[in-house]
Amino acid sequence: MRILITGGAGFLGSHLTDRLLEDGHEIICMDNLFTGSKRNIAHLMQNPNFEFLRHDVTDPFKLEVDQIYNLACPASPVHYQYNAIKTIKTSVMGAINCLGLAKRVNARVFQASTSEVYGDPEVHPQPESYWGSVNPIGIRSCYDEGKRCAETLFFDYHRQNGVDIRIVRIFNTYGPRMSPEDGRVVSNFIVQALRGEDITIYGDGSQTRSFCYYSDLIDGFVRLMEQDKLVGPVNIGNPGEFTMLELAEKVIQLTGTQSRIVYEALPADDPKQRQPDIELAKTELGWEPRVSPDEGLVETIDYFRSYLDS
Ligand code: NAD
Ligand code: UDP
Repeated sequence: MRILITGGAGFLGSHLTDRLLEDGHEIICMDNLFTGSKRNIAHLMQNPNFEFLRHDVTDPFKLEVDQIYNLACPASPVHYQYNAIKTIKTSVMGAINCLGLAKRVNARVFQASTSEVYGDPEVHPQPESYWGSVNPIGIRSCYDEGKRCAETLFFDYHRQNGVDIRIVRIFNTYGPRMSPEDGRVVSNFIVQALRGEDITIYGDGSQTRSFCYYSDLIDGFVRLMEQDKLVGPVNIGNPGEFTMLELAEKVIQLTGTQSRIVYEALPADDPKQRQPDIELAKTELGWEPRVSPDEGLVETIDYFRSYLDS
């Protein structure tokens, strides 16, 4: 198949590209390189089945493709809050452009949604049936509401125009190819530890997240896209739940750093807890995560160590 991946030069998009090329597909990678990097796709530039298009998903595009994976959107709070209006445009207009293309060329289209649609959840762990608790006017809203609106658009194109959609709600995922400047917690803690800098915990460190290794997540994406029964939304994430203090201590132990933990102000609307209920993915996709936190963190630490050395 010929497959379009928007956001294909980002952390997840570039791993998805590798996986789908290995599976024998042709990939068109569309990215404006806002948070993505040519470094993530440099190894593919001579591959005849790979094409890079520097293009913004908010501008219309026409292509002949069989499938679309829509991943274009900054994912780190630091980057999505940098230009909040652009972030919501990217989610909403990017979704409209992908759905319009899918409708025209009869392609199956996938949306990279997020656990942020649950906001600061009152239900724990979060099943797909939970509608969420989201502040519509806060500093995270450009991302959370943008992604919620994208899900709405996907379902309306599906109901109204019969577009063949798939939606994944991604819970915090980490691994090699995250940018050292990304600003999300796993890469921040590892880079701080490797540089011997203070490890910055926001708030008292009691808030929780559940961290999935990228290879498990990509496997879930492809399983959803390659079956005909389930449209989604489906949670994909690792239910292992950590406080940020536990994560910092784990990174200190695995890197052997002398770095100290310091506490900084908690950003507004920071969710207190987050853990995926993955029953749906287990029963319908036969999917569950395989990589343990220790294995995933060690591989990610090795990646950042050689990145920083170079
Ligand atoms: P990332 O920032 O590495 O990747 C996003 C990519 O989208 C980058 O390459 C960026 O340059 C590109 N992009 C941004 N705006 C664009 C635009 N207007 N036009 C074209 N390209 C644009 O982040 P990631 O972690 O790889 O996230 C990929 C997708 O998965 C995002 O949609 C994100 O919301 C979603 N997601 C990720 C996580 C996670 O934990 N990694 C969690 C939930 C959802
Ligand atoms: N966080 C932190 N120190 C950092 C970066 C993030 O303590 O250097 C916290 C942040 O406040 C949040 C959690 O780690 O509670 C996860 O943050 P991240 O930005 O990775 O993702 P999200 O909040 O979107 O889940």
